[in-house]
Amino acid sequence: MLKNVVVVGGGTSGWMSAAYLRAALGESVNVTVVESKRIQTIGVGEATFSTVRHFFEYLGLAEDEWMPECNATYKLGIRFENWRHQGHYFYHPFERLRVVDGFPLTDWWLQQRPGERFDQDLFLMSAICDAERSPRYLDGTLFEQDFVEGADPMRERSTLSEQNTQFPYAYQFDAALLAGFLTKYSIERGARRIEDDVVQVALDERGWISHLVTREHGDISGDLFIDCTGFRGLLLNQALGEPFLSYQDTLPNDSAVALRVPVDMERRGLRPCTTATAQDAGWIWTIPLFGRTGTGYVYASDYTTPEEAERTLRDFVGPDAADLEANHIRMRIGRSRNSWVNNCVAVGLSSGFVEPLESTGIFFIQHAVEQLVKHFPDATWDTGLRDAYNSAVAHAMDGVREFLVLHYKAAARADNAYWRDAKTRAVPDGLAERIERWKSKLPTEETIYPHYHGFESYSYLAMLFGLGGIPLKPAPALSLMNDSRAAKEFQTVRDQARELVRRLPSQYEYLARMR
Ligand code: FAD
Repeated sequence: MLKNVVVVGGGTSGWMSAAYLRAALGESVNVTVVESKRIQTIGVGEATFSTVRHFFEYLGLAEDEWMPECNATYKLGIRFENWRHQGHYFYHPFERLRVVDGFPLTDWWLQQRPGERFDQDLFLMSAICDAERSPRYLDGTLFEQDFVEGADPMRERSTLSEQNTQFPYAYQFDAALLAGFLTKYSIERGARRIEDDVVQVALDERGWISHLVTREHGDISGDLFIDCTGFRGLLLNQALGEPFLSYQDTLPNDSAVALRVPVDMERRGLRPCTTATAQDAGWIWTIPLFGRTGTGYVYASDYTTPEEAERTLRDFVGPDAADLEANHIRMRIGRSRNSWVNNCVAVGLSSGFVEPLESTGIFFIQHAVEQLVKHFPDATWDTGLRDAYNSAVAHAMDGVREFLVLHYKAAARADNAYWRDAKTRAVPDGLAERIERWKSKLPTEETIYPHYHGFESYSYLAMLFGLGGIPLKPAPALSLMNDSRAAKEFQTVRDQARELVRRLPSQYEYLARMR
């Protein structure tokens, strides 16, 4: 077996990788993390995707152990504001669609249109988010347990093979606090930390990494090197020369400006979701954490300038932004052709990044380290393992890219060049035909991860319904069927949502008690 794994980079990806490898492989593998004191981490990346629950659970961490230390909050979905027109909003929740007579409620909704807001007729979470409720009762029970038997797997430690399930919520957390928490976790479990700069990556005659040269700690050798150096891709792209495949032709947002805004939660409340508010050249994220809000404008530099973007963000935040320092970030959008080359695996931004619209950066890290454990090499370096890993990683990123492109293509908003161009820009292979097909038959089979359930058909449906730019119609068969059961189900969703809002505590109250 391989004995020595060297992780370069101490951002979210470096410490998530180290923690997961220690938890999965234990004492049999030595993990060393080399992180620079001089080079900053990216400083953003605070909203997650619901499968992240499996990560914490796998590390054996209960929510009350890590959430207060990372100022974490719950995220029941994403609230999209102004993507159709000013003043309009809808939620894309982590909640599967109910099915009546073999048809998802979305078909029935198009036929019956029981209310103004499809998301309130179809999902419980919209009302819970609007009312700023916690997904858990004060005794810790999950709200979903009221409806689905055995729905709280939170209490059981999952195994690798069980990780293909979604969960009704994800988390939002302070990225720097999480990296610090995972540093402590990893070191307590035997990982070694070296604070130094890697100044050279030395290759052997086969072109494999033989060792790293550091400024103060001499040479560091290893069997497997994990490149977590962020957008610079120091090992994979720079030293090994693996090309980067840009997604810029289909996803033009290439820049961001971010602020960290202190918030008085008792006065403002604490909404359990991330908000994505459409702007003239992109969108602004709002991520409510315990005690502060993370916010930033993701924009396309072809359509606005950094100064204008910062001004827009400061206006959006209001007086609270006055004295805050802005973090300007240039984003590398796309993926490395292969994330695993020879004895180097890139995880995190060095592997690839789509823009943060559906909070998938940390999901990609989790997916990568889980896949790495599943495909972990031995001394024979079986190339089949490497190829299978590369295919899983590429598939996940390409799939998310397609889903994100759909957001811009399907948004009804078309009031300036940025939003109009999104309707005519090239789309990834096959997406145009699929959109045409969805106009006749709503998506039912979509799932972008063969190894992992990610954005499934309910996500595609929530976005198509919410964005409103693509005409949709119900299956003709519904007009031949008994629709009273569907009408009853819409009423049930609303009744259950009302009852939950009445009984669940506010998110602020629940999290304040946890501290
Ligand atoms: P970085 O944070 O850049 O860390 C790189 C590390 O490498 C640092 O520790 C640095 O010191 C070290 N390093 C670099 N060079 C050397 C060297 N020579 N020697 C030693 N060490 C070195 N993801 C989400 O899931 N949700 C979000 O809401 C989200 N929002 C985002 C918003 C924006 C604008 C951007 C750009 C990204 C966002 N992401 C999001 C992605 C998320 O931020 C990243 O996936 C995550 O932070 C991981 O980054 P990283 O660890 O790969 O890189």
